[in-house]
Amino acid sequence: MEKSSKGLIEYEKLLEAFAITKKYLKQQIDLGFDQIYLSKKSELENNFSDLVEQKLKKLYQRIKNCNKCSLHKTRTNFVFGQGSGKSKVLFVGEAPGREEDLRGEPFVGHAGKLLDKILKAIDFKREEVYIANVLKCRPPGNRDPQPVEIKECEPHLLQQIEILKPKIICALGRIAAQALLKTKAPLNQLRGKFHDYHGIKLIVTYHPAALLRYPQYKKGCWEDMKMLKREHDEIIQ
Ligand code: SF4
Repeated sequence: MEKSSKGLIEYEKLLEAFAITKKYLKQQIDLGFDQIYLSKKSELENNFSDLVEQKLKKLYQRIKNCNKCSLHKTRTNFVFGQGSGKSKVLFVGEAPGREEDLRGEPFVGHAGKLLDKILKAIDFKREEVYIANVLKCRPPGNRDPQPVEIKECEPHLLQQIEILKPKIICALGRIAAQALLKTKAPLNQLRGKFHDYHGIKLIVTYHPAALLRYPQYKKGCWEDMKMLKREHDEIIQ
């Protein structure tokens, strides 16, 4: 993603919204309608999310055979990410684990089940948000990603962010947080506040796998999730 100001990102979105509106109105005129009916959740919103999902599919086709780092040699499946094109929130973990590698989907093992529960606790469904990882291929034995792997894979995530244009990003765990924020600061210094990530609000919390190992972190995670939810609800009002 280009390092653009918030103003530029908003301008781009406005242009995209105009293009979608124009296409929709032309369809209506071609159908012979001279008036439009807009429900609260209008057709425009659905058209917008269709467009986002089409762009994500195209990106997937372009990068699914990526071999930019050595992890392509050991992966079973490339794990692109999953969720709704309408989502205002993007959750980003560090890398696929064993289950994710076998199924080609993010967060489907024990940690994934816990993530589902966390989402439910703040009244989100998994299919309403978007979930991805910094790395798209599993590091063997679930070792930590190496800096070179993060560097090679990050452009894929940045393109996903460019397409999804989330309002909030939630970094799950130290590695995702440090990779996105380009810092070596420990997790506890990064939690408890919103960071600015190219004009997008970014919040950091524990990785669900860490919560399984250290249940005493769950209280902190709950505080982070409440912050995220409050911000989300203000944004969508
Ligand atoms: S981890 Fe990322 S950069 Fe490396 S091969 Fe997989 S998709 Fe490509």
